[in-house]
Amino acid sequence: MNIEYGKGTTEFGPGVDVTLTGGDVARAIYAYLVAHDIHVCGAATMRIAGELIGDCGIYVDPSGKVISDGVEWSGCGPKEPEPCEHEYEKAAPNPYGISRSCKKCNKPE
Ligand SMILES: [Zn+2]
Repeated sequence: MNIEYGKGTTEFGPGVDVTLTGGDVARAIYAYLVAHDIHVCGAATMRIAGELIGDCGIYVDPSGKVISDGVEWSGCGPKEPEPCEHEYEKAAPNPYGISRSCKKCNKPE
């Protein structure tokens, strides 16, 4: 399985391409069957429209997005990170020379 920005060329963004191998598609179908309490045991051959399962692609439009492991892939393309207005704990006695970090982005002072 692979996720990358698409090769779309609209003014709205490149979109996102999710590609699955035939094995990924077969596992997804097994997961669907198990979710419907259908359990296949033993060797089996899976076909779609009479053909062995090949690679599969899902193209997500620029208006959509994909979230994978908590990371957002916007169809609009990679976003520039917003600049952080750093916020540090109020100055406190700091005899140990420990540096403070921004409460929002963790950047050292
Ligand atoms: Zn910051």
